[in-house]
Amino acid sequence: MTCIIIAGSRGRMGQALLACAARIPDVKVVGAVDQGDDLSAIIDKADVVIDFSFHNATLGIAELCAKHGKAVVIGTTGHSAEEKAKIIALQAQIPMVMATNFSTGVNTLFWLTRKAAGILGPAFDLEVVEMHHRLKKDAPSGTATTLLEILADVRKLQLAEALRHGREGIVGERTQNEIGIHAIRGGDVVGDHTVIFANNGERVELTHKASSRDTFANGALRAAQWLVKQKAGLYDMQDVLGLK
Ligand code: NAD
Repeated sequence: MTCIIIAGSRGRMGQALLACAARIPDVKVVGAVDQGDDLSAIIDKADVVIDFSFHNATLGIAELCAKHGKAVVIGTTGHSAEEKAKIIALQAQIPMVMATNFSTGVNTLFWLTRKAAGILGPAFDLEVVEMHHRLKKDAPSGTATTLLEILADVRKLQLAEALRHGREGIVGERTQNEIGIHAIRGGDVVGDHTVIFANNGERVELTHKASSRDTFANGALRAAQWLVKQKAGLYDMQDVLGLK
């Protein structure tokens, strides 16, 4: 039995996690915290904390997990580089899974994107388009950022230099060494991501569309069950799914 605490429990993902956890016999929710609640008062009941809250809450949650020797699954996105560096440093003390997307389909998209970028080569222009519901707070999505990191890695580009966030005005002709990102917001879209590889005469598009948050919640719960058996270190969903 894996005992979990959910942080961000009143949010959209928190609610999906509570509903999905109730359907898994080997998982027991021993606590649920949201803004204003005291995680330190209940953390000792848990084996693992699952965080789907807000970027500025994750470091405090992860530090508390390190202090109490608890594993942590981090689904929250939108961390600054400074926040991320401090969170990641805790891997020396506890097992952590950090993933911008916990769905099996998106992790397959990550794998396919790396393959396609390698096969198609530098003649193909790279653009990423993502769409999410109107209430999403960070942009571009964490998943889109992971896709961009994969593309930059394959092309051996510095992402900060290559990235073009939308385009406006007289931007000039597209160069070979740029990667475009376009974040669309509207309605109740759970999460759509398309990677476009465009050349003269042909175009390849890889698309994933999530229609339910249960796909992320079940992935995070699977990660939690896997993580409690691991030693201290930083893992991602590719490790959990055995895709490495
Ligand atoms: P949401 O706004 O619906 O819910 C977030 C919840 O966190 C809210 O209830 C809020 O009150 C709570 N919260 C804020 N600060 C807190 C704190 N200090 N302590 C505890 N709780 C706090 O957002 P959501 O759509 O549920 O998404 C939550 C996060 O998960 C976002 O960062 C989102 O991008 C990310 N997300 C990740 C994945 C993935 O697969 N990795 C999938 C979906 C969403």
